[in-house]
Amino acid sequence: MATSDPADASADAATSTDPHDLPDEVVEAGHEYEAARERVEELRTRIRYHDYRYYTLAEPEIGDSQYDALMRELRTLEEQYPELLEPDSPTQRVAGEPTAGFAVVEHREPMLSLSNVFERDELFAWRQRMVRLVEREEFRYVCEPKIDGLAISLVYRNGRFEYGSTRGDGLRGEDITSNLRTIRTIPLVLNGAPADGPPVDGEPSALPAAFEVRGEVYLSKEEFRRLNEQRAEAGEQLYMNPRNTAAGSLRQLDPRVTATRRLNLFVYQLGWVEGDRPVTSHSEAIAWLRSLGFPTNPLTETFDDIEQVAAFCEGWVDRREALDYDIDGVVIKVDDLATQRALGVVGREPRWATAWKFPAEQAVTRLKAIQVSVGRTGVLTPFAVLEPVFVGGVTVSMATLHNLDHLRGLDIRAGDDVIVQRAGDVIPQVVGPVLSQRKGRDLPVFEMPDACPVCGTPVAHDEGDAAYYCPNRACPTKLARLIEHFTSRGALDIEGFGEERSAMLVGRGFVSSLADLYDLPEKREALLEVDKIGAKTLDLMFAELEKSKQQPLHRLLIALGIRHVGSETARALARHFGSMQALRHAALEEIQAVDGIGPIVAEAVYEYLHDEEYAALVDALAAHGLRMDEDVAARGGILEGETIVITGSLDRWSRNEIEEFIKSLGGKVTGSVSKKTSFVVAGDGGGSKRDKAEALGVEIQDESGFVGLLRERGWTGE
Ligand SMILES: [Zn+2]
Repeated sequence: MATSDPADASADAATSTDPHDLPDEVVEAGHEYEAARERVEELRTRIRYHDYRYYTLAEPEIGDSQYDALMRELRTLEEQYPELLEPDSPTQRVAGEPTAGFAVVEHREPMLSLSNVFERDELFAWRQRMVRLVEREEFRYVCEPKIDGLAISLVYRNGRFEYGSTRGDGLRGEDITSNLRTIRTIPLVLNGAPADGPPVDGEPSALPAAFEVRGEVYLSKEEFRRLNEQRAEAGEQLYMNPRNTAAGSLRQLDPRVTATRRLNLFVYQLGWVEGDRPVTSHSEAIAWLRSLGFPTNPLTETFDDIEQVAAFCEGWVDRREALDYDIDGVVIKVDDLATQRALGVVGREPRWATAWKFPAEQAVTRLKAIQVSVGRTGVLTPFAVLEPVFVGGVTVSMATLHNLDHLRGLDIRAGDDVIVQRAGDVIPQVVGPVLSQRKGRDLPVFEMPDACPVCGTPVAHDEGDAAYYCPNRACPTKLARLIEHFTSRGALDIEGFGEERSAMLVGRGFVSSLADLYDLPEKREALLEVDKIGAKTLDLMFAELEKSKQQPLHRLLIALGIRHVGSETARALARHFGSMQALRHAALEEIQAVDGIGPIVAEAVYEYLHDEEYAALVDALAAHGLRMDEDVAARGGILEGETIVITGSLDRWSRNEIEEFIKSLGGKVTGSVSKKTSFVVAGDGGGSKRDKAEALGVEIQDESGFVGLLRERGWTGE
C-alpha cells in the first residue's frame, strides 16, 4: 500500500518526544486526527454496507441523498487528512489515471475453456464419459445461466481486492484493476476482512490469506439501451450489442470512462486459494463467495438427475428473452470438488464441466445491397439483402434495418460485413457493421431514393419527420400491402390473400381499390387463367370474402388501415358510435371525447372519413353488403380473439363460472401459458403459471385488474 500508516504519521508529528511535553495545540490536533480516523473507518464500513445492499442485493435501506451525505463527509475528511486515504476506500472507485496500455498478468492457474453440447444426446454422452472415467453413476450437477459477457479474474489478499485481469488467451490477460474498481458490485473489501468488512447476513468463514475468484462482467440490456439513447442524442455511432460494449468499456484506458458505463458482474467460480480451501463443493464455494459480498447468479440450480439438467437447459432457450442480460447457454458443472479433480482436464477443457450452447443468434455475413420497400401507408423502409447465412436455426438472406435513423446511427453501408441477429420468432435484423472489415474500401453512404422504387412518384418527406413516403395513393405496392392488411387475421380475417397473391391481384389489374376485392367472383374466368389458382382455391377465397361481410364495425375500422388506428382504438370507436354512419357524422370534438382516443388519433380518423376518395371507398364497401355496425350483442364480445389463462382462486367467480363467463364474452380459456396467451388472470395462490407468464413477458391481471379491463371495454355486468 502506497499511503502511510496513520501510526507512522503520528510518530512523525511527535518526532520521538514524550507526548506529555508537546504544546497543547499539537496534542489537540492528535485527538482530532484520531477522531477523524475513527470516523473515516465508520463511514467506509457504512458505505460498503449500503453499496452491497444497493448494487448487489438491490435492496437499498437508505435514500440517495442520505448515501450522498455519507460519501461527501468521507471525501471531505480524506481531503483534510490525505494520510487516511486508502486505495480501497469507496471514494477511490474512480481515481485511477488514464494509462498508456495494460500490463500483462500471468494467470497463476490457466483460465480454461469449456466443451460444448447443443442437445440432450450430447449432454448424455458427456455424462457417460464421466461415468466411464470414475466408474460411478451418481453425480450432482450445478447449472448456471451462461452470461454473454467478459470473463475476468479477481485476486484478493487479506480480504481486500488486490488486482484483476481479463481472461486473455487463458494463460495471460491484461491488468484492468482500475477499471474493475469502478464496478460497484465488485467488493473492494470483503465481509470478514480484518478491521472493516461490510456486515452481511450469516457468519463468513475465516478468510484465506489470498485467493482468486472468477466471474463474468456484463452490461444489462437496460443500460445498453440507455447508453445508445445518449449516443443517438449526441449524434455518435451506436453500440451494437451489450457484449461488445462491455468489452470495450472494460478495456478503456481511462477508468473514468469505464465508470460511466454501469457494468455489472456475476462471480461463478473460486479459483486458486493460498492456504486451506474453505469448501468441498462448487455450490458451497458459491454460497461462501456470496457470504463474502460477491454477486452470484440467483438462477443457479442444483440437480442430481441429468434429465432434469436437460430440462433446465431447454427451459432457458425461450425464457432467456425475459432476462435483463444476454445469456448464450447454460454451464453445467459437477459439484463435488474431489470428483472434479479425479476427472481432471483434457487439453484446455475440464472434463467435469460443459456448456449447453443455445443456437447461435448472431452471425457475420456480407451486406450485398440496401433496398427500399413500400409499406401500406406508403412509408419507405430500407432493408438488407444479404449473402445467405445460417443463423438462429434458419438461412437468412434478408433482414430488417429498422429505419433510416438506425441505419445512419450505425453507419451501415452496402458492401459491409455485418452482424445479423435472429432471436426466437423475431424477424432477422442487422445489428451493425464490422468496421474493421471495411478498411481500405470506399463504400457509399446510403441515401433514400428520390422516387418511389415501385411507381416512380417523387418521394415526399416532411421536415422534422423521419419518414420518407410515396404520396401516390394508387402506388401498386401500397395497395398490395393494404390488401394483405385488410384480409389479415386481426382485421377482416379473409383467407387466401397472402403477400404473393395480393401483389398478383394488383399487378394484373384485378384489383385497383379495396372494394374491387368483392367484385372478384365476377372475374372468375379470368382468374382461372392465372397460374397456381385452381377452382377450389378460388371458391374458398370467394366464400371467405362473403363471410367477411358479417364482420363487426371495429374489424372493418382496423382493416381500412387508417393511420394510428389499431385494435384498441377501433373497439373504442365502434363501441362508442355503434355504426359507421354515426361515426361519419361525428364532429372532431366528439371523436376526441371518446375514452382512450387522443387528439392525433381523432384527427386521423376524422380526416380519413372526410376524404373524398376514402369516403367513396367506404360507400362502395357498404354497397357490397359489408356490415357497417357493431350490434349490441356483438358489443358484448369484448374478449373476442383473446386467449386467457386462469390461475389461483378468485373471489367473484368459481373456476367453472369464469370460464363460462370469458367464453360468453368471446374469449378463449386455455390451461397453459404460452407466447400466444393474451393475458393471465391470477388469483390467490397462482404459482407456476404466474412464473411462466413473467418469464415470457405475458401480461398478468389480478382479479380487480381484470374487472377494470372489462369495464374499460364497456362491460356493465356485476
Ligand atoms: Zn409508389
